[in-house]
Amino acid sequence: MYDVIIIGAGMAGMTAAIYVARAGRKVLVLENKAHGGQIINSYKIENWPGDFGVSGPDLMEKIYNQMKDLGAEIKYEEAISLKEEGEKFLVKTDEAEYNCDAIIIATGTEPRKLDEERTKEVGDRPILYCATCDGALYKDKTVAVIGGGNSAKHEIEYLEKIVAKVYPVHFEDPIPEDVEAVFVAIGREPATSAFKDFVDLDENGYIVADESCKTSRNGVFVAGDCRTKNIRQLVTAAGDGAVAAETAIRYLGE
Ligand SMILES: Cc1cc2nc3c(=O)[nH]c(=O)nc-3n(C[C@H](O)[C@H](O)[C@H](O)COP(=O)(O)OP(=O)(O)OC[C@H]3O[C@@H](n4cnc5c(N)ncnc54)[C@H](O)[C@@H]3O)c2cc1C
Repeated sequence: MYDVIIIGAGMAGMTAAIYVARAGRKVLVLENKAHGGQIINSYKIENWPGDFGVSGPDLMEKIYNQMKDLGAEIKYEEAISLKEEGEKFLVKTDEAEYNCDAIIIATGTEPRKLDEERTKEVGDRPILYCATCDGALYKDKTVAVIGGGNSAKHEIEYLEKIVAKVYPVHFEDPIPEDVEAVFVAIGREPATSAFKDFVDLDENGYIVADESCKTSRNGVFVAGDCRTKNIRQLVTAAGDGAVAAETAIRYLGE
C-alpha cells in the first residue's frame, strides 16, 4: 500500500517523487521504458537553469539518484488501468496491481505513429522513431525520414553524419524503394490512452487540468507534458511535478 503512485519517470514524475518522499510519504514510481523520459535523447540542454549545456541523460541521472536517495521506489512496469475502490485507488500494471491513496499521472508525450496506409507502404522495412537511439544501426546505409517540421529537420541533420544517404520524405511523397529503414518524425502526442475513461481529456488527448494539477477525479493529479498547458518544457514539467505533489500531499492530509 502506497500513499502516492506516480506514473512516469520523466522530469515531472521524478520531481513529484522528490517532493512526496521529502514529505515522509511512501511513494512508488512506475516507468514503462527507461527513467528520464523524452529528454534522454537530447545531448545538449541550454535552458535548464544552473547547468548550461548539460546532456539529457546526465541531468536525468542526477534527478533519478536524488529521488532514490530520498527513498522513492521505482518499478519498471507499464500502468495499464486505474480504478477507484472506495477512498483508495487500484493501479494495474502489465505485471502486478498496487493500491494507493493518491495518483499522479506524469506520462508525457510519445512520437506520433505512422498511419495504416503509410505503414503498408513501408512494408517489411523497420519503422523507427528516434535517430539518436537507432541511427547508428544504419551506418553507411540509405534511410528515409518522414515529416516536414522541425523535428524531422533535426533527425535529418543527425542522420546525415552517420548514414550514406538520407531522403527527406514529406507527408504525401512516396517512400524511395532503396531505403533500408524509415525514420518517422511527425510530431508527438500525449501518452494518455490508458486513462481516457478515468479522467477527462481534451480533444487532443491531453489530461484536462489547470495550474493546480487537479484532474476531473478527486485524488488524481497530473503533471508535465501530458496535461493541457501552453508551454511544454523541462522547467514547466518540474514545476508541475512540485505542484502536483504538494496538492496530493494536502489531499492526503484532509
Ligand atoms: C528532442 C527533444 C529535445 C528537447 N529539448 C528540450 C530543451 O532543450 N529544453 C527543454 O526545456 N525542453 C526540451 N524538450 C521538452 C522536454 O523534454 C519535455 O517538456 C519534458 O521532458 C517533459 O517531461 P515529462 O516528465 O512531462 O514527460 P516525459 O519526459 O515524456 O516522461 C514521461 C515518462 O512516462 C513514461 N510513461 C508513459 N506512459 C507510461 C505508462 N503507461 N506507464 C508507465 N510509464 C509511462 C514514459 O516512458 C516517460 O519516461 C525536448 C524534447 C525533445 C523530444
